[in-house]
Amino acid sequence: MRVIETIGGVREAVRAARREGGTVGLVPTMGALHAGHVSLIARSAAECSVTVVSIFVNPIQFTQAEDFERYPRTLEGDVVECRRAGASLVFAPSNQEMYPRPLTTFIEPGPVAEGLCGPFRPGHFRGVATVVAKLFHAVEPGRAYFGEKDAQQLAVIQTMVSDLNMAVEIVPVATVREADGLAMSSRNQRLGAAERKAAPVLYTGLQAALARLEAGEREARVVREAAQEALAREPLVRLEYLDVVDAGTMQPVERVTGPVRVAVAAWLGGVRLIDNVRFEAR
Ligand code: AMP
Repeated sequence: MRVIETIGGVREAVRAARREGGTVGLVPTMGALHAGHVSLIARSAAECSVTVVSIFVNPIQFTQAEDFERYPRTLEGDVVECRRAGASLVFAPSNQEMYPRPLTTFIEPGPVAEGLCGPFRPGHFRGVATVVAKLFHAVEPGRAYFGEKDAQQLAVIQTMVSDLNMAVEIVPVATVREADGLAMSSRNQRLGAAERKAAPVLYTGLQAALARLEAGEREARVVREAAQEALAREPLVRLEYLDVVDAGTMQPVERVTGPVRVAVAAWLGGVRLIDNVRFEAR
């Protein structure tokens, strides 16, 4: 497995594979890899002849400089994880390689980016969509793998690909959780002991909402309240939002008539966590 730092290098490496008729899979990450990332890489390795894992902490998607600076960077260990999970190559560009001069052209996502995390992280999804478009142009993958844990990000990318006729299939991958239900995240390692103990309540709340939906409840307000009640029992949780949204458009719904996600964002101490569950009315 090779580690490549330049756009020209990765382009050349995958070109050879594509000439031989192989499918190129791309797994975009910001590193600090955990079992969630590994499941995306393993899935790509099982389905594609070449799997590229990109590792790049993308400055233009951070709303706070401090969050960007404190983001864990563990390239050496990540490379070991990638090899173990079956990746063919790691693309780890520098900031200079990705942004040699201030960027002047951006992908501007529409309404899909306006709710949920949108108002709390202005410019975030614009930064995500733009860097993913850059990665797609560098690697030209046939398939790209994204975690359902970041459901709004997944919807932003799916909408971008469809709106702009990008020739890449977006593959959603189920959320990987710790044994106590906490969704795996590179940010979990920043939780203090008390916050880490409290954090699984996010999933408990989502499960309470899901139970209402499965019992036949279709009023979003009632479903939301079920989750809010569970979350309110944990004083360390500062809720940012809790919404029931259409699974494709990410627009809030009042009544559940099709596929939805119940999505939550909350602060535990200085760490912001997100999670969601999907429900499809039968
Ligand atoms: P990140 O490094 O946080 O930007 O995440 C890179 C990719 O891994 C994104 O597509 C995420 O949605 C996905 N991912 C992160 N955490 C998980 C998880 N717990 N389960 C599944 N996928 C995940």
